[in-house]
Amino acid sequence: MTDTTRFEHALVWLRRDCRIFDQAALHQALVQSRHVYVAFIFDKAILNPLLQNGPEDRRVAFLHASLMECDVELKKLGGGLIARHAYAVDEIPQLAKQLGVQAVFVNHDYEPDAIARDAKVASALEKEGRVMLSFKDQVIFEKSEVLSLQGKPFSVFTPYKNAWLKKSQISPGEFDLSLIAPYPTEPQRGQLLPPPAKEKMPTLKDMGFADCDLHALKIPTGMQGGQALLDDFVHRMANYEETRNFPAVKGPSYLSVHLRFGTVSIRALARRAMEAIQTGTGGSGAAVWLAELIWRDFYFMILHHNPHVVHGAFKADYDGIAWETGPEADAAFQAWCDGKTGYPLVDAAMLQLNQTGYMHNRLRMVTACFLIKDLGIDWRRGEAYFAQHLNDFDLSANNGGWQWASSSGCDAQPYFRIFNPITQSEKFDAEGKFIKRYLPQLAKLNAKQIHAPWLLTNMELTMAGIELGGNYPHPIVAHDEARKKTLARYAVVKKVAA
Ligand SMILES: Cc1cc2nc3c(=O)[nH]c(=O)nc-3n(C[C@H](O)[C@H](O)[C@H](O)COP(=O)(O)OP(=O)(O)OC[C@H]3O[C@@H](n4cnc5c(N)ncnc54)[C@H](O)[C@@H]3O)c2cc1C
Repeated sequence: MTDTTRFEHALVWLRRDCRIFDQAALHQALVQSRHVYVAFIFDKAILNPLLQNGPEDRRVAFLHASLMECDVELKKLGGGLIARHAYAVDEIPQLAKQLGVQAVFVNHDYEPDAIARDAKVASALEKEGRVMLSFKDQVIFEKSEVLSLQGKPFSVFTPYKNAWLKKSQISPGEFDLSLIAPYPTEPQRGQLLPPPAKEKMPTLKDMGFADCDLHALKIPTGMQGGQALLDDFVHRMANYEETRNFPAVKGPSYLSVHLRFGTVSIRALARRAMEAIQTGTGGSGAAVWLAELIWRDFYFMILHHNPHVVHGAFKADYDGIAWETGPEADAAFQAWCDGKTGYPLVDAAMLQLNQTGYMHNRLRMVTACFLIKDLGIDWRRGEAYFAQHLNDFDLSANNGGWQWASSSGCDAQPYFRIFNPITQSEKFDAEGKFIKRYLPQLAKLNAKQIHAPWLLTNMELTMAGIELGGNYPHPIVAHDEARKKTLARYAVVKKVAA
């Protein structure tokens, strides 16, 4: 052992960092402790509310499969994963006592509920003479690490990105890769300890959840799955800028669920992008992709400095907007959720979300704008629906995305920018390939017809086998009228936005 060893026994508590390589808390525990246990708590405080939506939850299944892999890999190193189904706030202090550890190692979590939970756990541990140590792991730069020249947190992305890039470089164009060097997590022989006898990982069924066929959805789980997606993406990274906006094309990385649960390391991803930029092999795509990773850091930073965004608009005046309510609005909201608005691109996108738990970024923007600015419905209802269904649901990015679409966010689109769902469709799914994947009843429509079927003649509809109001809905709203209503609705913030 090194002379940095401070603790005889320590516990690493995994949360949204479910991997055993390049992991800050695990690294620190191994450096600072003679013996290390690793645990995960399937937290009833998080899981019980999910059960209200039924037993099938792709995220819980993803997490479970990913943790099984952690357990297998830890066993190969002489340890194993202690996994329990309990309230983490009570279980961690109890487990720490049972195991006789002096320290619990975690990685920072930036969500308000998680911060409150961690404070309770830390105080319970402290009462018994133990410490909780927390580290930066899931972002490159956090909290106040990137500030404006005036020493203030940014609220606009581009200057934040520029400052972020400056901080990550030794000289213009040369990244400081030491900032994102992987954390070594090789244990010494006998350093990792196995779970106590008779400890068994709860099954999904034990916790009230059903199995989900993630394989059929082509969602690879765990560290291996994340690595496979990354390996697949690096060959496409150079084309990312040209391909990323077209949902029918395999443009993005599909790594978001892995970033959400930490089955990939953000440092490894940033390194791949930075190396590609530096060696000139990344085309224009690598820099654009790196910028997306910076958006991720940006929204974590925004949440840290502005926790009020969880409940309301970043710009408080936008809380004064009067949204549509009542039975008609409820019916419109339901049609949006079910992919039955009569606007093919919007509907196909919502079906993608409902059937797979993923939605392409361009479509997240289109569907969010449609809900807010075509249907006049409070963005928080859409945010909650996405939170329930997205595999990659992340409070900071989801909130940031919705506040962007509603124009209430820190660096949002102006309130008078209202996506036209038809032109978005013509531009980003010109041939209707994506639409047809989710709406096979529109398969016979050609590239001109598919974006607005209600404009077709009866003869054209019949020839394509479509009955409006039958196998495909009439549009639930007229975009041009909705646009006018929205401009009027947003008049209350006009002065502020101007
Ligand atoms: C209304 C709305 C809601 C969203 N909700 C979420 C969410 O809950 N969770 C989530 O991870 N992303 C969210 N996003 C951002 C983005 O749509 C997804 O990150 C992206 O589609 C995930 O696919 P990918 O991994 O293939 O992304 P890629 O295009 O390969 O991007 C790589 C990674 O960069 C990050 N990223 C990309 N775009 C953004 C962005 N705009 N903001 C923050 N991070 C970004 C993600 O971690 C992503 O995995 C939302 C966007 C909008 C407009």
